[in-house]
Amino acid sequence: MTTTPGVVIFGGSTEATALCRVLVEGHFSPTPAVTVSFAGRTSAPASPAGRIRVGGFGGVDGLCEYLRAERFSAAIDALHPFAARMPFNVAEAAQRCSLPLIKLVRPAWQSSAGDRWINVPDTDAAADASVSAQRVLLTVGRTDLDAFRRVAGPDFLVRSIEPADLNGRWRARGLLARGPFSVDDEMRLMAHESIDLLVSKNSGGTATAAKIEAARRLAIPVVMIERPALPSVETVTSVAGAGEWLRQCLNAT
Ligand code: NAP
Repeated sequence: MTTTPGVVIFGGSTEATALCRVLVEGHFSPTPAVTVSFAGRTSAPASPAGRIRVGGFGGVDGLCEYLRAERFSAAIDALHPFAARMPFNVAEAAQRCSLPLIKLVRPAWQSSAGDRWINVPDTDAAADASVSAQRVLLTVGRTDLDAFRRVAGPDFLVRSIEPADLNGRWRARGLLARGPFSVDDEMRLMAHESIDLLVSKNSGGTATAAKIEAARRLAIPVVMIERPALPSVETVTSVAGAGEWLRQCLNAT
């Protein structure tokens, strides 16, 4: 009798959702039992399949306890590229529990001819770089707005998937929207709102890349927030790569 291998995916990225779909749709034999772990920041994680668990573990010790209790055969860190703490927790817990781990992270965007990027290391520096703009399209997510609340000069248009807290010294309006967006729509929005600065995290991927292309075509500067440091873990950049690693790890076909 073959036992069903258990796989845990630490989610929060579109790749986590895509990988989960690949794993549960019968492309593997035996089909692994997939659990996707979310922090619980968004009220409705877009996960199609697998068992879902939500909420923190209380640090590395709690995570180790969970991993041992569930007896997983492999773990995949498919966290968002800007998750700063959890990748380190996952790496340490996997090492302590001798659990095979791969990190799946999409490549960062690279600037090309025509781009006017101002690369900054974090949201504080991004807020400083926004001070002299007139109208800013702010697309860093609703949980990373604090640094901008003190910037009194520009008008901020704050785009987020769920309503953001717009309190602060700044002048801010909210715009609720969930990608993917088209380049034409992004250009229309930027032109209609007379945007003269885009602030973005270097999230990479295709779902929100249209704003970068739109800014390039309209010659709008982009304050680009670089990614946080990552733990040293074996890494793949595609869902297919993670699937291949898992296939070998589980001795699956
Ligand atoms: P973080 O700073 O790396 O994590 C903070 C804490 O949240 C962790 O220590 C852990 O709590 C808990 N946590 C994070 N991800 C978790 C997961 N997948 N399952 C269970 N607990 C998790 O992460 P963050 O920046 O707050 O982001 C939270 C989540 O949103 C992540 O899953 C990330 O992939 C996703 N996300 C983040 C961004 C972003 O820009 N930061 C954007 C889109 C999506 P305990 O220590 O108690 O275990």
